[in-house]
Amino acid sequence: MRSAPALVVSVVLALAGAVAAHDRAIEFPDVPGYRTLVVDLHIHSVFSDGSVWPDIRVEESQRDGVDLMAVTEHLEYQPHKHDIPHPDRNRSFELAHKHAGGDKAELIVVNGAEITRSMPEGHVNAVFLSDANALLADDAEAAYTAAKAQNAFVFWNHPSWTGQRKDGVAVLSDTQRSLIERDMLHGIEVANGAMYSQDALQMALDHDLAILGTSDIHGLIDWDYDVHAGEHRTVTLVFAAERSADSAREALHANRTVAWMNNTLIGRDDVLLPLLEASLQVASVNTRDNDELVHVTLVNHSDASFELANRGDHNFYGQAGLIRVPPHSEVKLGLAGETRKEFALEFEVLNAVNAPGKHPRLSLEIEVP
Ligand code: ZN
Repeated sequence: MRSAPALVVSVVLALAGAVAAHDRAIEFPDVPGYRTLVVDLHIHSVFSDGSVWPDIRVEESQRDGVDLMAVTEHLEYQPHKHDIPHPDRNRSFELAHKHAGGDKAELIVVNGAEITRSMPEGHVNAVFLSDANALLADDAEAAYTAAKAQNAFVFWNHPSWTGQRKDGVAVLSDTQRSLIERDMLHGIEVANGAMYSQDALQMALDHDLAILGTSDIHGLIDWDYDVHAGEHRTVTLVFAAERSADSAREALHANRTVAWMNNTLIGRDDVLLPLLEASLQVASVNTRDNDELVHVTLVNHSDASFELANRGDHNFYGQAGLIRVPPHSEVKLGLAGETRKEFALEFEVLNAVNAPGKHPRLSLEIEVP
């Protein structure tokens, strides 16, 4: 008997009991033509101002399902150097890379460094380095030149940080404009840990920079994020031809990135929409003998808890316009008064951002059997 309306339009959390206990690994589906890599390009250890040895960084990343991590110690800020003297700025990377299992390891560890200057350069990370020591220089321009010589991917860190600008407004300096024009600055952190910057997002769109999210972890991941309650570290999803460092670097330079922060996907429509389409799909459409509704089941293949606002003309039986689709679960919807055989459901995806204050639209094609 399906007499109770609450049953007809029941929101079925197929894995309700399993959501909280779901594996902590960050999971998003691949998109057409590309692998979806989970990437964290901003990580500290005791070799600069972090609080743990590099092997802990590797093990945290393995648990979080990170595909590629960069070790990015501050070059110029070394508060532990009296306890841990290390003239070689590659040492943290070497320890992490070895602990992960070397070049053939499942977790790809790449070398990097944080060039730590006040404005007009600001803090930047240079990653995919072959030798971090070459970036040690009195002159910031020389550090950037050395990074470019190593074909590094370089990005501006926490642009809205009040330690950099007291008013918390990110403004591009003339020096940074010049670096962008000379292909020496390629990306920008739109999300750094728990800090989102809409100025940074607008800057990325205006200046053709890669949109990045990073953990910038100094303590422990589990202290900054309540992972067991379903929270996740801030990372970048990178859409790469293959699961390799070279492919990831190519994808970063091509701006094929989405930042993943606090259950929000931030990116350009050209990569964000394929990710949304791969994540959220129509699992089934059917009609039944006992009512005249069209029954649609949506399935979520991702870690995102989707919040969908109905922007079409559909009347979702028993639902008020906002549909939630929890991670790795299904939601059943009943469409009242729908007589067409082919149509589309139109949603605004509220937990995704494609420009400051804007959310992408997702259109799901429905064919009634
Ligand atoms: Zn940092």
